[in-house]
Amino acid sequence: MLTVNAIAATSATDPLVRTTIERRDLGPRDVLIEIRYAGICHSDIHTVRGEWGTVPYPLTVGHEIVGRVAEVGAEVGKHAVGDRVGVGCMVNSCRECENCRSGQEQYCLGGNTGTYASVDRDGTITQGGYSTHVVVDEDFVLRVPETIPYASAAPLLCAGITTYSPLSHWNAGPGKKVAVVGLGGLGHMAVKIAAAMGAEVTVLSQTLGKKDDGLAFGAEHYYATSDPATFETLANAFDLIINTVSAPIDMAAYLRLLRLDGTLVSVGAPPQPLPVPVFALFGNRRSFAGSSIGGIAETQEMLDFCAERGIAPEVEVIDAAAVNDAYERVLSSDVRYRFVIDIDSLR
Ligand code: NAP
Ligand code: ZN
Ligand code: ZN
Repeated sequence: MLTVNAIAATSATDPLVRTTIERRDLGPRDVLIEIRYAGICHSDIHTVRGEWGTVPYPLTVGHEIVGRVAEVGAEVGKHAVGDRVGVGCMVNSCRECENCRSGQEQYCLGGNTGTYASVDRDGTITQGGYSTHVVVDEDFVLRVPETIPYASAAPLLCAGITTYSPLSHWNAGPGKKVAVVGLGGLGHMAVKIAAAMGAEVTVLSQTLGKKDDGLAFGAEHYYATSDPATFETLANAFDLIINTVSAPIDMAAYLRLLRLDGTLVSVGAPPQPLPVPVFALFGNRRSFAGSSIGGIAETQEMLDFCAERGIAPEVEVIDAAAVNDAYERVLSSDVRYRFVIDIDSLR
């Protein structure tokens, strides 16, 4: 066992605190990663505040992890000491069900093993990336191209793949009109990736305050959802809407923005239900869908795509001591556009 420095939540209401956690001994197929940067995803906040259900406190969250391989088990063949690698939202799955066999481990029928707050194969509770080291099965470790700036690579492991996967599945590309609702961590990556895929991108944000940024990320249009006229102007306009909002939205209002056979995909995960009036689906034969992160092979494809296209998240690097303040800023939509913890501040 390796005892390592970490930050943990001890309850739904107390601030996160510095602590130590245990990492398992290296198994034959395990990789020990010295973590360098860890992104702060809104899912970390939903989780530690108990919004999604019971939490096994104390809990270390963080599932946007990049670092270097420090040690490998005897049978590891995919990664070598010194490699720049990443870990996203899962660290294992059953590998046998039809979804795992088709490379969709995120939809493992037995439930994938989450990077934190899941029961690991040894019965312990998994602990996430706000820590100096992590031990992960080599099959769930990604190669992070050296051309992606180090700190900016971290958010690709969740925000990047969570937006790339539905954009790819629903064929965002030339001739397609894509709207992105919410310009936060996921939203800004959705804009960059959809634009790189060749789609015509529109941002739907609460205000016009981040318009210059949105256009710089590749959007062609930018509207404020606080202005009711937006919903008149954009009626029947989009092939695909990616909703990244962490709170409930008015589903009827957004569904009416879809053209014939358009789809609204929610990746935003508010704890409350999103009620859908069925008549909003009848018009234009619209669909409402959800999407969860992406498979391991697809995550590698996304990392390579971002490296080739020179796409990287916009990050604000913070010390571990600033995590609680960063959470408050995320909650007030004051994030531009992802906080990333410099894990050296934990050593
Ligand atoms: P984030 O950085 O906080 O971005 C969310 C954005 O939504 C905000 O920047 C804001 O954008 C908008 N927003 C926030 N509150 C709002 C409200 N009350 N009404 C309207 N708009 C609001 O969060 P994130 O890390 O991108 O995560 C977004 C959501 O995706 C979270 O619920 C998270 O748990 C979920 N998630 C899901 C998956 C998955 O696999 N499906 C993966 C990762 C995260 P504007 O200021 O531009 O309006
Ligand atoms: Zn996440
Ligand atoms: Zn499975």
